[in-house]
Amino acid sequence: MGEVIDKLWRRINENSQRYLGVLNDLLSFPSVSATGEGMDIAGDRVRETLESVGLRSEVYIDHGGYPVVWGELREERHGTLLIYNHYDVQPPDPLDRWTSPPFTPQIRDGRVFARGACDNKGNLAARICALDLLMEVFGEIPLNIKFLVEGEEEIGSPNLKTFVEKHKENLSADACLWEMVGSSPSGRPIIYLGVKGILYLELHAREKRPDLHSSWGAIVRNPALELAHLIASLREKSGRVPVQGFYDDVEEPDDDTLSLLEELREAESEIRAVAGEDGLMTDKPIKDLLNDLLLHPCINICGFHSGYTGQGSKTVLPSSAFAKIDVRLVPRMRPEKVLETLRRHVEKETGGRVTIKPVDMGYPAARTSPREPVVELVTRTAEAAFNSKPLIYPSAAGSGPMYLITDYLKIPCVAAGIGDHLSNIHAPDESISVENYLRGVLHMALIIINFVPFYRSGVAPYL
Ligand SMILES: [Zn+2]
Repeated sequence: MGEVIDKLWRRINENSQRYLGVLNDLLSFPSVSATGEGMDIAGDRVRETLESVGLRSEVYIDHGGYPVVWGELREERHGTLLIYNHYDVQPPDPLDRWTSPPFTPQIRDGRVFARGACDNKGNLAARICALDLLMEVFGEIPLNIKFLVEGEEEIGSPNLKTFVEKHKENLSADACLWEMVGSSPSGRPIIYLGVKGILYLELHAREKRPDLHSSWGAIVRNPALELAHLIASLREKSGRVPVQGFYDDVEEPDDDTLSLLEELREAESEIRAVAGEDGLMTDKPIKDLLNDLLLHPCINICGFHSGYTGQGSKTVLPSSAFAKIDVRLVPRMRPEKVLETLRRHVEKETGGRVTIKPVDMGYPAARTSPREPVVELVTRTAEAAFNSKPLIYPSAAGSGPMYLITDYLKIPCVAAGIGDHLSNIHAPDESISVENYLRGVLHMALIIINFVPFYRSGVAPYL
């Protein structure tokens, strides 16, 4: 490690109790956007934390919905970093599955346990503490910093677009650091260069008659079958979507993006563990699996319901059936256009007997080119902070409203974080490792001090 990195890491360890205190404060109040629990005070608590490290902070409610907390350090520096995080958390249920109460943080075996420890208050706290560290060591922050901390991420960020549109001028930046992820099971930091988009739909099949005795099934239409045939027409066994026009806007990934997949071979064991024995649809090599998972659109059935599904037998010909589906999108696919494409297909296949209804219009995908300077900066600083070569994913398989940054604001955006495979996000006993948290402080500090020189001359002086 370089001299400056050594010095920062020493100081982080000396300050570790204080930095864990910042995290502890953020984890000690609920902020559950799904139920509203604690949301009345959460924004102000986050504002106070941002102010405690010298940021000018404001709580905005002019976009509707829960507050966005804005933090800013603007000193006419020659570079600006926008930082996205969220302070809302998932509901802590089921409570009886927690070893310690979800909003009373506890450290056990080198890990901090609490709802939000990883997703996403731990990431936020580490980034805030990095500013505290740099002020202490250098007496200044050599970069304009903007924090956008929203309170509705866990419910799909329904009002973030309005906020971003209203505050477009204020949001300008050279690059954005997104929340999410952390380290792989082998301890390598993971970096995402994008996310998929999403569209969530329902399919309804309904007959103008009540349920009938199932003997009528020989000659009377069954909406469950109608829907089953339609669903089969939406997706081949391979995963390909044989719907006319579905792939019209999909561009094949470029060579830079594909070459990233070559470096992700260690993801194979994790993917196989998630899928379970014999759980993968094909025996494709890992590079092709990753290509499908990260870089291609997908239609998935989330739920299917019709007729009698209780105990024992009931011979019935149901009068209705419905299914819920999500469509994961890749760059250039627009949710509105995909909905129209699917609507035409459903009409053609069922002659109007099945209707398609958007539950959530979702948002498009986001992707930042591996050639953007911020990618190399975040990658090299991650390697220095975590002592391990990062895994760079061209996209997450999941979704988030990152397009607002990359497409609307035209700012390159990279996601990095401090979680790991034991973090249990969205589940009981959510946690982060203390070590990763402190290394997250170092990572953020290294990004900030290297940012301007790296952007100006391609040289990172503190690595
Ligand atoms: Zn989450």
